[in-house]
This record gives sequence, structure tokens and C-alpha cells, in this order.
Amino acid sequence: MIAIIGSGITGATLASLMKNTTVYDKARFPGGRLASKPFSDGYYCDLGATFFKDKVQILSKSTVKDFSFINWLEEHGINHCKYNETNDRQIYFSPNGQKTISEFLLNKSALKFNHELISFSKLSKDSFNLRFLNGEEAVVDKILITAPIPQALSFFPECEEKEAWETFLKPYSEYRKTLVCACFWKMPSDVNMLEKIQAMDTYTWLDKDSDSEYISIESRKIKNSTSLVFMIQFSEEFSNLHFDNWRNPDRSPTDFCKSVMEEQFLNFCENNQIKIDTFQQVDQWRVHKWRYAQAKYPLLGKNGVLNFDSETFKEYQNITNQTKINILGDWLYGPRIERIVAGVLQNYEKKN
Ligand SMILES: Cc1cc2nc3c(=O)[nH]c(=O)nc-3n(C[C@H](O)[C@H](O)[C@H](O)COP(=O)(O)OP(=O)(O)OC[C@H]3O[C@@H](n4cnc5c(N)ncnc54)[C@H](O)[C@@H]3O)c2cc1C
Repeated sequence: MIAIIGSGITGATLASLMKNTTVYDKARFPGGRLASKPFSDGYYCDLGATFFKDKVQILSKSTVKDFSFINWLEEHGINHCKYNETNDRQIYFSPNGQKTISEFLLNKSALKFNHELISFSKLSKDSFNLRFLNGEEAVVDKILITAPIPQALSFFPECEEKEAWETFLKPYSEYRKTLVCACFWKMPSDVNMLEKIQAMDTYTWLDKDSDSEYISIESRKIKNSTSLVFMIQFSEEFSNLHFDNWRNPDRSPTDFCKSVMEEQFLNFCENNQIKIDTFQQVDQWRVHKWRYAQAKYPLLGKNGVLNFDSETFKEYQNITNQTKINILGDWLYGPRIERIVAGVLQNYEKKN
């Protein structure tokens, strides 16, 4: 029996390739950072990854090959849509939320949610005992950990394997924080404003030098939408500064968060020559604080070719073989879902 810790895109892709697995996740549902949250009437927003790209290049055994994530989704019968942007950027999303990609890949697996791994121990060369916060234990032959590195290292018992992994992972273990907020207006009273937003050529805005680093009109993922979902993922600097003043214990936005969102929405309208009279009261909020949003220095880089011939990747393979423990995720392949899928397929598809 193989234990996969985490049901995000890494764990879900692994589970789709392997037999005799059980996927454990501390959350109540799958997806991890593919986090689609519902509003009323079928509207939703993706609070983690909002879109993906198609092509990834892979270098292995001195040969470069192209991986098409879109073809792979199609082969697996997983729906996707393309943003009709007029510029050259080809970006895609999953209708009904990015989380459905993980759900689909996990549909044949044994799943255990509300299972937070707190530690494991090695019983023999090929056998591990897992202990969960809910008191359950499990004995497995193999363990594949897909939680972010700081969480992954917290499971290890004090042993030489821990030391080896800690030393190896040090250069890759930094993550950026991201604060996120989405506002949902079920029936925007300002019809003119809604029409203008619906008619814009652009659906998403990336401005790395501003507090509101990434803006997405998430309601445009729904055809002919009559409601509005306005979402912002904030910059690292802004998020570090306001991390503890963003969400109340009941998951509602703090007054500070609300005031920032109002200001940002008014700026957005002004910058896009959309005249509005007043800021309409928001019907529903979604607020999130990502402590481990994205790996900052992934082993195989954030962009470009996934180089499986590199010396550091060989070192990674050595340590997984020696310790019989595997840790993988965006710190390895880069914080992009198409890179993660391409990387997991490259490393695991043929072996299983
Ligand atoms: C705000 C934001 C925006 C992003 N935008 C994009 C984008 O537009 N496009 C893109 O391609 N990528 C984007 N990314 C990056 C992408 O979402 C991630 O790289 C990817 O989803 C990581 O997947 P993963 O499976 O490796 O990790 P995760 O999705 O984090 O999965 C790990 C899982 O492990 C579980 N877990 C953790 N600890 C334990 C434990 N102790 N026991 C059991 N389970 C545990 C977690 O609950 C989680 O489900 C974004 C990320 C964020 C946060």
C-alpha cells in the first residue's frame, strides 16, 4: 500500500497513475491550492490557481520533448475552456473551478479527508507507520509527501533521513505568502458598469509592482454572467504586511480587508474608464490567507524547460532512493499546474 499525503494537483496526478494508493488530506475536500469556492447560483471563484497554460518542454536523456497539458486533459476527458483574450497570451481554466481537475483525477482512488498526518516512523526498510491527528494509524510500504516543504519536514521523526532531506531541501524551502479576497455581487444594480466589465477584452490583470498584483473577473468564467465576481491576489509585500489583519476567526473579512477591496474596486473602475456612482454593498465574500502560496526557488525553475538531466535533479533522485521517502510538489517542478502534471507524468508514468 502506498500513502500519498495531499490531494492537490501533485497528489491527484500521482494517484491517477498508481495502483494500491490511499490519498490522505488534512482538509475536508480535495484540491489543495486548486481552491474553488462557491457563491450562489453556480458562481464561484478560484482562490488559488486561476488559470493554466498548455505547453511544457521536458529535457530528459538529452532529448527535448513537448508536453501539451491541454491534449492530456482532453485524453482524460477533463473539461477546459480558453480565455478569449485578444493578445498572444493563451490561457485556460477549468469550468466549475480548478478544483474539479483534482477531483476528476482522484475519482478512482481511496480517499481519506480530515486526516492530518502528524508524524511517521520507519518500521523497516520498506514499511512505515503513519500517525494522524484524529488518532488513526496506518502501516504502508511507501510514502509520497506532497505537502509544502515546512509541513512535509514536520512529519519526520528525528533520524538521519530527516537530516538528509533538511539539508537537501534548504535552497527550495521558501514560499511566498499571498492574501486573497473575492467580492460577489449577485445582481449589480449598476447595469452599465456590469456591461462594460463583461465587454472588456481582458479578463485578468497582472501588475507585479502593485499591491493588487493579480486581478481576475472570475464571473467571466461563466457564460453570459449576470452577477459579478471580482477577485484580487495581493503582492508578497502587501501580504507580509497585513497577513494578521485580513480575516476574522469566522472567516469573514476584517474591516481593513473590506476597505482595501472597496478602494481597489474603485481604482479598477477608474483605470478602465468605467464610471460608477457608489460602491454597492457586497453580497458574499471569500477571503483567504495562503501561508505557503507558491514555492519561490523551485529546483527545476519557475519557467522554461524542465531539465531532468540536471545534476540537482539526480541528487534529488538519489535521496529519494536512499531514504525510500519521496517529497514532491511545486518546490520541485515550479508553482504552475501544467509543470507539476508534466513533471509527475515524466517521473512516474512509466514506472507504474
Ligand atoms: C494564490 C495562488 C495563485 C496561484 N495561481 C496559479 C495560477 O494561476 N496557475 C498555476 O498554474 N498555478 C498557480 N498557483 C500555484 C499552484 O496552485 C500550486 O503550485 C499547485 O496547486 C500546488 O499543488 P500541490 O499539489 O503541489 O500542493 P497543494 O495544492 O498545496 O496540495 C498539498 C495538499 O497537502 C495537504 N496537506 C498539507 N499538510 C498535510 C498534512 N499534515 N496531512 C495531510 N494533508 C496535508 C493540503 O491540505 C493540500 O491539499 C497559485 C497558487 C496560489 C496559492
